[in-house]
Amino acid sequence: MERELAIRLRGAVKRYGPITAVDGLDLDVPIGTCVGLLGPNGAGKSTTMRLLTAQSIADEGEIEVLGLRLPGESKMARAQCGVTPQLDNLDTTLTVQQNLLVFAHLYRIPRGERRAAIERALEMAKLVDRRDSRVDKLSGGMRRRLLIARALVHRPRLVLLDEPTVGLDPQVRQELWALIDALRSEGTTILMSTHYIEEAQRLADTVMIMSHGKAVATGAPSELVREHAGRQVLEVYGPPARLAEVEAEAGSAGLRTRRTGTSISILGVDGANGYEIDGERRPANLEDVFVLLTGEEIA
Ligand code: ATP
Repeated sequence: MERELAIRLRGAVKRYGPITAVDGLDLDVPIGTCVGLLGPNGAGKSTTMRLLTAQSIADEGEIEVLGLRLPGESKMARAQCGVTPQLDNLDTTLTVQQNLLVFAHLYRIPRGERRAAIERALEMAKLVDRRDSRVDKLSGGMRRRLLIARALVHRPRLVLLDEPTVGLDPQVRQELWALIDALRSEGTTILMSTHYIEEAQRLADTVMIMSHGKAVATGAPSELVREHAGRQVLEVYGPPARLAEVEAEAGSAGLRTRRTGTSISILGVDGANGYEIDGERRPANLEDVFVLLTGEEIA
């Protein structure tokens, strides 16, 4: 039986003049799962997120959010969603708690429940001790956590996170991952766009890799790796001329390769398959799949 879907897109198209930002996209996000949209700059991730909040209206296709049809029923859908935008739009003149209170009003949380809702969001985002700090006194990581907390205040069934850790340093990114992971283990459905491969690999049950407005692969991260990159990768280092030779040799042996600046990665060299070139073997990962399918360098 098909699982109940929090998001269902069929043949969604969004054009901006001559640019087709989303080009016939199908996407299923089952209730209770975390799906990651992964893609290089300009792949159409943000446009897809905007279609789901009806900030953009699709030119073609069907979009359903929590069983409601967009754009017609977008108000009802949005009331049950938590959204964090890519750009921080917190009110910097207010405190942490005041920012949450504004949203508690906007989401029409009954007066008697507001305090508990705000406490819960503060706890989730580990901002209890900072409740009275003005936003302009917070670090970048705290502001991001507050953006997420603000999206959670009305206990949404579905959370849309657009590039939740963009521009943050690695330690702060990990704090955010812990927060998203906690949400996920509570059973909240999450759709997250990202161009950090590790983020998608760690958090998402299902990843959709996008390129030029289309889905180029969809599946569990480990399945995508097995299917496209095999189990093992051989990393060969050397001067450019040597790398070109290795590339040609691997190609004629029917193996796929990708350039990584100073090395050649030869994919799918699983087990002892007789491929005799000196190099370092390592497990294949989602980055191999990403570069193979999108041909793009990544952040
Ligand atoms: P990024 O990681 O850079 O945010 P993205 O995958 O989110 O990229 P989108 O922002 O959805 O990609 O953009 C997809 C394409 O649509 C790009 O070519 C972009 O220039 C174009 N585009 C997006 N929004 C608009 C707009 N409002 N007007 C014109 N073109 C747009």
